[in-house]
Amino acid sequence: MQSLPMPEKIVGVLSFDFDGTLVDPKSDPQLHPVFFEVIKQFNEVGWVWGINTGRSQMQMLSGFMEGKFPFLPDFLIARERELYTPGRLNRWMPVREWNEKSTKDHKKVYRKSRKFIKQVQQHVEKETNAQWVTEEGDPAGIVANSIEEMAEILDFIDARIGDYKNLGYLRNTIYLRFSHKDYHKGTSLAEISRRCGVTKEQVFTIGDGHNDIGMLNKEYADMIACPANADDEVKQHVLEQGGYVCQQSASLGVIEAIDHFFD
Ligand SMILES: [Mg+2]
Repeated sequence: MQSLPMPEKIVGVLSFDFDGTLVDPKSDPQLHPVFFEVIKQFNEVGWVWGINTGRSQMQMLSGFMEGKFPFLPDFLIARERELYTPGRLNRWMPVREWNEKSTKDHKKVYRKSRKFIKQVQQHVEKETNAQWVTEEGDPAGIVANSIEEMAEILDFIDARIGDYKNLGYLRNTIYLRFSHKDYHKGTSLAEISRRCGVTKEQVFTIGDGHNDIGMLNKEYADMIACPANADDEVKQHVLEQGGYVCQQSASLGVIEAIDHFFD
């Protein structure tokens, strides 16, 4: 599987969240094939497109199968902060400069916030049934058992995190992980736009979850939308930003939002 031919001159960027936005496991098909017809039309007039997800790059490989992608996107933003472009032989090539800086900045913020992260870990392990998750490059993650449990954990974190300068977190339903404040879907998207030579007036983005709020922001994209199945908090945010809340869910919502902005 390959990407569509790269336009000679890039005129715009389309950024899509994956789970719940492009792909809905409860729908059949999970991703409406018309979406790819739309993308082909955009490609012909110089637009590039990509997936902007909380999934890791490895997890996205199965995502392309789940969504039955007939061709690959032009870029991939994994774990909200790692940039990749398609390489030869189906391999994703890291955008080294950015990814290395991100790794360095994350190591530093984790080191400086060590005490607090430990405190949260102890709270999670002793006071809740949630799971503390440590992964390569991602030492501080939480998987709660319910939205309510996550809300309680957030209360604990939010009351204390202000003391730690660059520490932030990204969350999506029952998942949370600590990260550097400057790295989220919005700043990652801005880096893609910068590399493409495109200003925010020519950027479209859509997402349904809390971790999409970073990119659903007028600072990074003039065209902002969420599907009908988005979290209420996300819908509220999109409206406040002057964006578009779709009538339809998941990929049908995506197609609707594109229609809305591009007629
Ligand atoms: Mg989502």
